[in-house]
Amino acid sequence: MTQFQTIKFKGFEAQVTGYVHSEGWNQGLVYLEMSGAEAHVKAIWANLVSAETKRSGYADEVKRDGSSVRMEKHTKYTALRTVLDNGQICMALVHPQATVLAEGASFYLIAEADHEGPPANFFPRLARILPIPIKAEWSEWLWEEGLKAGEYDYQRLIKKCTSSGHVVGYLVACGDVSLWLQLVQRGLGFQICERCKKVSQELVEHKTIIGYGYGSHRKQEEKVEMLCPECHNPKREEIDF
Ligand SMILES: [Zn+2]
Repeated sequence: MTQFQTIKFKGFEAQVTGYVHSEGWNQGLVYLEMSGAEAHVKAIWANLVSAETKRSGYADEVKRDGSSVRMEKHTKYTALRTVLDNGQICMALVHPQATVLAEGASFYLIAEADHEGPPANFFPRLARILPIPIKAEWSEWLWEEGLKAGEYDYQRLIKKCTSSGHVVGYLVACGDVSLWLQLVQRGLGFQICERCKKVSQELVEHKTIIGYGYGSHRKQEEKVEMLCPECHNPKREEIDF
């Protein structure tokens, strides 16, 4: 049986059933799920939320197993509240980048601690961010390779967050999308067309003759690009400028 931690604020106390914390530059709470008597849960929640705007981000007086809980600065957490069968309240605080509606680069994934393979949201969210089309059957491979990269360097691809309770959290770093593109290129033996930026199994050397100048000063230059078969147009093009 899982030993749940407790979270305390002054005389209030609740049980922590799920906890995810991110380290590094964006250090702070990603997910907190607690349950207890309504008044207790509410008091703890209110104090945590008031810390969002603090400079340090620390909810100094809220202790989870003796340590202060740190919220990510200037972050608006979503609160989800459920009434349990025993009348207690279960409240989850979710980082905005962990919600499916989140826009922008990096995102968090929250999954059950005993999950296997990539969490359900991994592929659709990554696919939405990357500028190249990726196939669903690559999902497992991208997940495994992403996790390996994250073991060495926090900024890279997928990093497992500090997690406890019944959940586990991951940061999928997409701040530098080219890292993901390199992974796709390297591991899957696919290449990216220089023109349409789509993934292609094979690229063709495409030569374009560019003419410039006029009269006896007219010169021609050859431009070489590696293109997908669709973009590769074997006929000679002349661009005047
Ligand atoms: Zn192309």
